[in-house]
Amino acid sequence: MQRIVIVGGGIMGSSIAYHLAVAGAAADVVVVEPDPTYEFAATPRAVGGVRLQHALPENVAMSLYGDTVYSDFATHVNGGTVEFDPQFRRIGYLYQVRGAADVAALEANAAMQRRLGVEVHLLDREALRRRYPSFNFNDVDAAALSPADGQIDPYGALMGFRRAAEGRGITYLQDRVVGLDVADGKVTAARLESGSSLAVDTLVNVANCWAAGICAMVGMQVPIAPMRRQQFFFDTRDPIETIPAMRHASGLAIRPHQKGYLTGYTRFDEPRGFNWTLDPDLFNDFLWPQIAEKSAAFEAVKEKGGWVGHYDMNSLDGNAVIDRFPAVPNFIVAAGFSGHGLQHGPAVGRAVKEMILEGGSRSIDLSRLSYRRIVENTPLPDDGPKA
Ligand SMILES: Cc1cc2nc3c(=O)[nH]c(=O)nc-3n(C[C@H](O)[C@H](O)[C@H](O)COP(=O)(O)OP(=O)(O)OC[C@H]3O[C@@H](n4cnc5c(N)ncnc54)[C@H](O)[C@@H]3O)c2cc1C
Repeated sequence: MQRIVIVGGGIMGSSIAYHLAVAGAAADVVVVEPDPTYEFAATPRAVGGVRLQHALPENVAMSLYGDTVYSDFATHVNGGTVEFDPQFRRIGYLYQVRGAADVAALEANAAMQRRLGVEVHLLDREALRRRYPSFNFNDVDAAALSPADGQIDPYGALMGFRRAAEGRGITYLQDRVVGLDVADGKVTAARLESGSSLAVDTLVNVANCWAAGICAMVGMQVPIAPMRRQQFFFDTRDPIETIPAMRHASGLAIRPHQKGYLTGYTRFDEPRGFNWTLDPDLFNDFLWPQIAEKSAAFEAVKEKGGWVGHYDMNSLDGNAVIDRFPAVPNFIVAAGFSGHGLQHGPAVGRAVKEMILEGGSRSIDLSRLSYRRIVENTPLPDDGPKA
């Protein structure tokens, strides 16, 4: 019997706990999560996109497993007394680029995605205009449409994993990890805000925006910090054709949401750290001119509210670190998802279960998402859609 302490009970912690419980290890696991309402956690603040278009095959493979699980949730995630339905829908994803270099990257990425089983169609400007007549695509040379990309309710997914994990015997402790004891290159105990402590055989750090602080407790430096992401809701006076989630390489995003649309933007020039202010000027002065330029249907729209969340941004390359810390090998971190962690939650749950019980991530080779690339300062080349 080993004591597996999971720090953070968001989608990652709950999926890891669930996969360990299914493997028969529930009695060994404690999830430490300070906030059962998840007020500041990223998971309930996510938009809910399950995107199959990525430039790294690892990310495509993880999204495909996310698709498998979320699209047939009750079959894959069960055992709780209360069941949640993440309401998976296929809405599609249209990634638009401009310029010869970006078109070449789009084509190469689409070929890789197809090899992994993703349906992807390349469309030029004329084909785009025929398909989506409300948009002009003036700043687009080519786009990749993946019609099967999904949309889920993030809270339903989180609570679905959590309740199923609890139903299978996982303990959630309402507390906060405030320190780790390390002896002879091993974490031996997690100290808690309540004053008590937990014995540790394996510690899993899935504290997302707070993960760098937990890493620092064992001397592990990761370039992961919170980055504000603002989402704005708007609707149109007259209906337009059904659109997929649209994303331009410039970073502009427009996606259907409830009875209207969402646009969002990540300002990479902002200082990192928590900032919970929703800034309407970002919509009025920056986003609205761009969406109005793309479609006359958006010229008269007004912002109707929105919300703020934070990405656990990995400033090295915008991708996760999923690895053991070599200096303290019973310390595992899975963080730095940089805005695409919800779709990877099921795959990370399975991978960390395999790392703990089977000696390594077996189903998907995640060795390139190692901590070594941080130490060696060698970013993974990623020319796909960004956060
Ligand atoms: C606006 C926005 C939109 C997004 N849209 C998408 C999307 O469309 N698709 C997608 O795939 N991803 C999306 N994401 C990213 C996704 O939400 C995250 O990658 C994912 O939810 C991370 O899950 P997590 O469990 O690691 O983190 P969280 O949900 O943040 O959970 C971490 C938990 O750790 C706990 N914690 C913190 N400190 C401690 C401590 N000391 N001790 C114990 N527990 C602690 C926190 O209370 C928290 O509950 C979006 C994110 C944002 C902000």
